[in-house]
Amino acid sequence: MPRKLYEAIKSSLGERYKQCAAKQALAIVKSQRKRAKKKKPVVHNASLELDERFIKIEHGHNSFDLWIKLSILNGRPIYIPTRKHRMFNKYVNEGWELSRSCRLRKTDKGLFLDVFFEKDAEPVKEEGDIVGLDLGFRKLAALSDGQIVGKELKSEIMKFYKRKHSHLIIKELINRELKKIDFSKMRILVVERLRNVKKNKRGVLTHHANRLLSHWAYRHALSRLAMLCEENRVQIAEVEPRGTSKACARCGSRGIRRNERFVCKRCGWKVDADYNAALNIRDRFISQGGYGPLPESHLNISFG
Ligand SMILES: [Zn+2]
Repeated sequence: MPRKLYEAIKSSLGERYKQCAAKQALAIVKSQRKRAKKKKPVVHNASLELDERFIKIEHGHNSFDLWIKLSILNGRPIYIPTRKHRMFNKYVNEGWELSRSCRLRKTDKGLFLDVFFEKDAEPVKEEGDIVGLDLGFRKLAALSDGQIVGKELKSEIMKFYKRKHSHLIIKELINRELKKIDFSKMRILVVERLRNVKKNKRGVLTHHANRLLSHWAYRHALSRLAMLCEENRVQIAEVEPRGTSKACARCGSRGIRRNERFVCKRCGWKVDADYNAALNIRDRFISQGGYGPLPESHLNISFG
């Protein structure tokens, strides 16, 4: 880290904090460099990524079972008493370890400290089925092993999608439904790669809303699935999304989709359209070898 980068920061904070802030600023600028279309980065909520030089979480022995030691400025550290919450205990009980770095976040509701849990990834299962999964709006997920979750998603979303913060409610609904998937007999879960969408399509619903999840909801569901797969030691793989809902999974010729039904003109197969798509997704992976695993997901829990 070049010295002139952080010496320019006007603040009464100590040098280590300035270094930390400069490192973070550099990372934000660098992340823009990779993008095809570069924009000036905008910071909406101020946050500090703090490593163990600045913050330590210590276990307490009195009524507060957790103490946060914050070394701001160059004087004495500040101790903040707090308590472990339910999620904290859940992760500890499942063998996760508290990461040494934290994130201090300022929002309009106050200051929050995000703590992170880490765990060595367990090896993926070697036994089990390869299962295709079709994400949609009418049914959240149809799987090639016959499972279906989120049948009521559409009607639930329609109730409130014009309300403010509806995207947060939709994310919660997606999380709740995906959790119902039974991964026990699976070895590999195959999903469709995120479609490229034209920009400015940021609404809750897309123009073919009857069938597809909007871009952000699809992305959210994918990252949630990646997390669930990791927890269940299932490998997740992606295939190209084109045409998986149009071909007949039995004979391969083009069929017609009428709402929830898929009808094949050649072999006469009549089947649930999303189930047919899930079969095609699975078979595409088997025949092509797929696109490999999704990027790793991060777990993060915050308490304020
Ligand atoms: Zn057919």
